[in-house]
Amino acid sequence: MCGIVGYVGNAGRAADHGALDVILEGLRRLEYRGYDSAGLAVVTDAGIDSRKKAGKLANLVDSLEADPLPASLTGIGHTRWATHGGPTDGNAHPHLADNGNLAMIHNGIIENFAELKAKLVAEGVEFLSETDTEVAAALLGSVYRGAGEGNLTRSMELTARQLEGAFTLLAV
Ligand code: GLU
Repeated sequence: MCGIVGYVGNAGRAADHGALDVILEGLRRLEYRGYDSAGLAVVTDAGIDSRKKAGKLANLVDSLEADPLPASLTGIGHTRWATHGGPTDGNAHPHLADNGNLAMIHNGIIENFAELKAKLVAEGVEFLSETDTEVAAALLGSVYRGAGEGNLTRSMELTARQLEGAFTLLAV
């Protein structure tokens, strides 16, 4: 069972701990469910920044301590239980789309990922992982630039309509 965390902070609240601390604490609380890799994405002034590591959450924390991400008030975090593709850094979530402008995490299975992937590949999309999740992320990227008109909420709605299976998705 994977874990999925999202956080939108409040810039006006001095006590706000920032997205990174809240997400890592959320992932710690979900560790008991079992997982094989962990990752997160934060929204910064410069865009999306992300980090993901196979293995224990400690691997992700070590990586963030060695090479910190910029401060942020909004982000998403994930512990993965692999169903499509092995437990590697590359298959860990988040998966990026729209040239790194969007990041997605996913709990569940996209059953029609193969046919969606074939269509996206025909459109020239290149995939970096073996996951069903990256297909949903790429579809979101395509919809965001098309019918979603750059509106993330609308684009998520339109993307979810094309997906079959059981899934929870978060994107920034
Ligand atoms: N099916 C997705 C994957 O293999 C998500 C698995 C999960 O729920 O952690 O990456």
